[in-house]
Amino acid sequence: MNASISPETQAVSRREAVAALRAVLPDRCLLANDEETRPYECDGLAAYRQMPMIVLLPENEAQIMAAIAVCRQLNLPIVPRGAGTGLSGGAMPIAGGVVLSTARLNRIVKLDPYARTAVVQPGVRNLAISEAAAPHGLYYAPDPSSQIACTIGGNVAENSGGVHCLKYGLTVHNVLRVRMVTTEGEIVELGSEALDGPGLDLLAVAIGSEGMLGVVTEVTVKLVPKPRVARVVMASFDDIVKAGDAVANVIAAGIIPAGLEMMDRLSTQVAEEFVHAGYDTRAAAVLLCESDGIPEEVEEEIARMSEVLSECGATALAVSRDEAERLRFWSGRKNAFPAVGRISPDYYCMDGTIPRKHLAHVLQRIEAMEQKYGLRCANVFHAGDGNLHPLIMFDANVPGEFHRAEQFGADILELCVEVGGTITGEHGVGIEKINSMCVQFSRAELDAFLAVKRAFDPAGILNPDKAIPTLHRCAEYGRMHVRHGRMPFSNLPRF
Ligand SMILES: Cc1cc2nc3c(=O)[nH]c(=O)nc-3n(C[C@H](O)[C@H](O)[C@H](O)COP(=O)(O)OP(=O)(O)OC[C@H]3O[C@@H](n4cnc5c(N)ncnc54)[C@H](O)[C@@H]3O)c2cc1C
Repeated sequence: MNASISPETQAVSRREAVAALRAVLPDRCLLANDEETRPYECDGLAAYRQMPMIVLLPENEAQIMAAIAVCRQLNLPIVPRGAGTGLSGGAMPIAGGVVLSTARLNRIVKLDPYARTAVVQPGVRNLAISEAAAPHGLYYAPDPSSQIACTIGGNVAENSGGVHCLKYGLTVHNVLRVRMVTTEGEIVELGSEALDGPGLDLLAVAIGSEGMLGVVTEVTVKLVPKPRVARVVMASFDDIVKAGDAVANVIAAGIIPAGLEMMDRLSTQVAEEFVHAGYDTRAAAVLLCESDGIPEEVEEEIARMSEVLSECGATALAVSRDEAERLRFWSGRKNAFPAVGRISPDYYCMDGTIPRKHLAHVLQRIEAMEQKYGLRCANVFHAGDGNLHPLIMFDANVPGEFHRAEQFGADILELCVEVGGTITGEHGVGIEKINSMCVQFSRAELDAFLAVKRAFDPAGILNPDKAIPTLHRCAEYGRMHVRHGRMPFSNLPRF
């Protein structure tokens, strides 16, 4: 998908915009040739591309404020960008607009081992925080699989999660304070370094707002002690229903695993072939269930987990005996996406969340959709959170296959809503799922979201047309969801 404006219009406005921005930024902070801006044309959702007019690489908050003021004056759309690993097109440029990268604001400002906090600039990589905290026996808990590359600014904007978020929480649970610049030129500080703050909880509003409310310039994160020991149980099941039920039963037994992940047969087979993690390739599903803490606690929890998994019909159980074996068991899960990439020219990673009790039912319905769309789908996901990541395989060179993959994905998201879940878990809405927002929310709800956006960004220049659909878009999508028998947008024609 590629939106564009005429080259002449773009050339003129690019010249004007470059001149105005050069007045407030050093040359080294501005890219305006196509060869230089090409790497910014997409994020991790590479099927959607748009060349930016200009890319800005400010080096401090004052430059960000100055650049935003120029953009506001010229009415230039701004797309904030961290590392560009997002999977929903949140950092994809807007035609004729500016990409504002925070990659050069990459300093850890302060690390306080006593308060167990770190103050970091937005371009600091997720893993770099844990690396800096390691000498103090601490780490930053949210661990997206992209943590080697993705930035904390992007994590805040997407409310990112990871394998260990079941026990330790998502970004929103691990951030104390966010400082950001609005398009009005204001510096806003949300939250505080104390455990609670007075007034409305606007910090929670900002976290997950997908770069639409302000440009994050500083973040205070919580650090937690590194567990003394971690062990993982690997359980095989001959039936995906039993595996899905086992996930619900582990949690129902009062256990909160440090990670509870599920892989279906196809994903275990491809991962095993790729990294030889020791998976049972005949199993219909494999669960990885981790416990961490002090040795006595872990031993007891592993015993309880094993008991529940056996009662739920596990056909085989293996408990990691040492750290090397634990990492080997996880290596298949961590490499499942590239492993799928080895068997399909392209794949489309969906992200939806459902109540855990519906896991088995939803996986069966996804299997039926494979037949309907004639495309294979591997399931490897954060089962404990009910956060699905179906990987729909297709070949972009076969006419119509990408479109079928998109429809397959949209059907999965509608299914998530149908069973009481949501259309995203951790990858955001961006441009990818904007139509599915029309399915999930009523017009009144969407209007409330737009009102919040207007309160922070009255000019509407910050990441516009992402995440929150307009009435017009929902009407075009035309597949309004009927909830509780009530037809939303009943005044609009159906087509
Ligand atoms: C291989 C792979 C694995 C992944 N695994 C996971 C996973 O396990 N869990 C998970 O949650 N995600 C995962 N992701 C998705 C992605 O890494 C996360 O969404 C991440 O938080 C994006 O960070 P980023 O720095 O790359 O942000 P970008 O992609 O650059 O931007 C993402 C969004 O944040 C906004 N943004 C960026 N910086 C700022 C800022 N300073 N101020 C305001 N807005 C800003 C952008 O406008 C955009 O809307 C994965 C991606 C890949 C490619």
